[in-house]
Amino acid sequence: QPIQLKDYTPPSFLIDKVDLTFDLEEDHTRVTSRLVLHRNPAHPDARAALQLDGRELELESVKLDGELLDSSRYELDAESLSIAAMPDNAILEIVTVIHPETNTSLNGLYRSGANFYSQCEAEGFRKITYYLDRPDVMARFSTTIVADKQKWPVLLSNGNKVGEGMLDRNRHWVKWVDPFKKPAYLFALVAGKLSLLADRYTTTSGREVALEIWVEPADLDKCAHAMSSVKKSMQWDEQRYGLEYDLDTYMIVAVGDFNMGAMENKGLNIFNTKYVLARADTATDVDFDGIEAVIAHEYFHNWTGNRVTCRDWFQLSLKEGLTVFRDQEFSADMGSAEVCRIDAVRTLRTHQFAEDAGPMAHPIRPESYIEINNFYTVTVYEKGAEVVRMYQTLLGRDGFRKGMDLYFKRHDGQAVTCDDFRAAMADANDYDLGQFARWYSQAGTPVLRVRGQYDAAAQTYTLEVSQSCPATPGQAEKLPFHIPLTLGLVGPDGADLPLQLAGEAEAVAGSRVLSVKEASQTFHFINVAVEPVPSLLRNFSAPVKLDFPYSRPQLVHLLAHDSDAFCRWEAGQTLMLQDLQGLIDAARSGGELELKDDFVAAMRRVLADESLDPALVALMLTLPAETYLADQQDEIDPDAIRAGREAMKLGLARALRSEFKAAYTRMLDSGAYQYEATAVARRSLKNIALAYLSELDESGLMELAERQFAEANNMTDAQAALACLVNWPEGDAALASFASKWADEALVMDKWFTLQASSRRLGVVAKIKALMQHPAFALTNPNKVRSLIGTFVHNNLAGFHAIDGSGYEFAADTLLAVDKLNPQVAARLAGSFNRWKKLEPVRRAHMRAALERVAAHAGLSRDVYEIVSKNLM
Ligand code: ZN
Repeated sequence: QPIQLKDYTPPSFLIDKVDLTFDLEEDHTRVTSRLVLHRNPAHPDARAALQLDGRELELESVKLDGELLDSSRYELDAESLSIAAMPDNAILEIVTVIHPETNTSLNGLYRSGANFYSQCEAEGFRKITYYLDRPDVMARFSTTIVADKQKWPVLLSNGNKVGEGMLDRNRHWVKWVDPFKKPAYLFALVAGKLSLLADRYTTTSGREVALEIWVEPADLDKCAHAMSSVKKSMQWDEQRYGLEYDLDTYMIVAVGDFNMGAMENKGLNIFNTKYVLARADTATDVDFDGIEAVIAHEYFHNWTGNRVTCRDWFQLSLKEGLTVFRDQEFSADMGSAEVCRIDAVRTLRTHQFAEDAGPMAHPIRPESYIEINNFYTVTVYEKGAEVVRMYQTLLGRDGFRKGMDLYFKRHDGQAVTCDDFRAAMADANDYDLGQFARWYSQAGTPVLRVRGQYDAAAQTYTLEVSQSCPATPGQAEKLPFHIPLTLGLVGPDGADLPLQLAGEAEAVAGSRVLSVKEASQTFHFINVAVEPVPSLLRNFSAPVKLDFPYSRPQLVHLLAHDSDAFCRWEAGQTLMLQDLQGLIDAARSGGELELKDDFVAAMRRVLADESLDPALVALMLTLPAETYLADQQDEIDPDAIRAGREAMKLGLARALRSEFKAAYTRMLDSGAYQYEATAVARRSLKNIALAYLSELDESGLMELAERQFAEANNMTDAQAALACLVNWPEGDAALASFASKWADEALVMDKWFTLQASSRRLGVVAKIKALMQHPAFALTNPNKVRSLIGTFVHNNLAGFHAIDGSGYEFAADTLLAVDKLNPQVAARLAGSFNRWKKLEPVRRAHMRAALERVAAHAGLSRDVYEIVSKNLM
């Protein structure tokens, strides 16, 4: 049943042109498709049948070169329509009827309220019409949409609008032509009552582009930030990569019912409202950041994804890893590069390292899948971006740009592979990237073991570097990776020492990149005048786990002085993690929960250092997630993890009470809300200080949160205050007033659900069941499911893992209910079982039972089946 990379064969036919007509009605949609096809000379069998993909379609008619075919001329099954006797050149006309009005999967053409939207990546187009639904079939599309003019006044599709007019029964039509050939997954259609924010942009070469953001009328006042993000993205891609937009119109549509973040359909990107709509009072700084990044991401796909696309879905990281890397570099240039980098590393470690250590571990280019939608993962996206970043680290920024230029020169208009990208990087720089290919084929997080030795007499510093990678499902043995190791040697005064390897004539200042390629390797630095502290893996130069036996004073030294912000933050995190582990062990064995003095002193210095970027201070004071701590244990005891982590928060709050109060006051801002790096940084420190202070059960401090909640002029501050209040009885009144104020704002209500799903208060399962009955909740809406159910099962470690198994029972029941409506969303919930083998025995048994119950359920989707079956393997 699994699809294998090694089985790839070119398609038997290619499609030159496709003309689509959609007749939209309330209770059905008729799709007429006219395909111009020709036999693919690259296919091994010159007489192969034409097999078109199709699912859940009602076939009305098939015409081959004008002749109506009776059912003896083709074969029809649940997944395909096949025609055996095909001429080498043909015109096929296919009429199908579909039902967007009952399509709850949000895959293919569907309704959200009265409007129509589409989502075709990866394989949604086959739910619209019979087609060669694979990315290596690229065709020129035209789309005519016919619909009632009152109900669906706005009719959008890819490319340029070439005509429109009226028909009978008050119906109108609009025709769109996309001049670029594209795979079917980039097709899009939108129809409905939508309002427009319009703007324009002139490219460097002088193309005038109309920018359009289409939203529900009530949301028109929340589009300004998205529009400014579009313009910044266009400008950045021209400056950094010389890439310009290529159509006359760039459209973005926002929809509240959407499975993922957004989709890069050619000229007509469709977004989850979460990544478009923002107003100071409805969206947080994190939301503003997310919108800027996702707008950039989808815009950047126009070149990395659309102009050059993927040969097959195993190559998904070709476009996603590269495009995430591009959006990360963009965000770094828009705000604080250091903060962006640390955020990206935190995401990778918390989610991707976990995936790499669990039953779903896969390389960034997977070798097989049962359901491709399950491989839109943090591994393909975020680890994929780290792999792209490593090219830049090894080749330099200019070398990377040369590689990008060659990639577009060779492959514009083609569907290619990850190997083609690697070849462009290698050839443009005359650099051997042969061994680098292993990053694409081997799963698992490598461990880089480093040991250092200073010889004072010889003035040398020797680094012994060895690498290993744990076994993952289907891959017992791993070969060494090509790892860029960026490092510096920090002297006793905190400054970087010059770096000179044995055999080199001169030293270089600051950092340098070592190429680690062997299982073990030694590097000799000479002319090292004083004993240094090595600063390793600067800027997180490779997605690996570093093993170096730092002493506590060495960590304190790096935290205070390292010129690399990532390593500085990392030193603090390492100290914090050591002490958290001590607290977790103590909680498990009933010992004392005390913080260590050197750690508290280091954090005190961080908090008092007014020369540091407040955003970095906030990050240094941020504890790792409970789930990340869970992944560091040999056997997970969720209660001990919660107890240890809470003890760290309370201990820091008590010890640094006056420093937190001072920081809070220093960061207070009386002006109007501005989304701007300095203001964002100040709010992040202010709100983390508030979070610590609210740990202290003191009435004056609770009032601080209550006052901020009542007086905030922006959602960042309001939500931060509410997050402090929800863990205490004071929170109930605040939650109630929040809900009545924001009842009509779906995205704000998502925050309200999220906060309650992450509550530390007991009895969360009962609370969540009650919230599922709230009028603002809907099991059919992915944002609601993710906010309430997803937050609980993925982020509320101690709540979900209640010792009686009630969290697992609830998760199983809910995911089965969601699976009937929307398999993609259900499969994400099923991922909450991925840690089961590492749980302590009582919970492990409960979770296994829940998994087996799900696995035995009749009518399970392919999506959920793949996750639970791999868990039980
Ligand atoms: Zn993407």
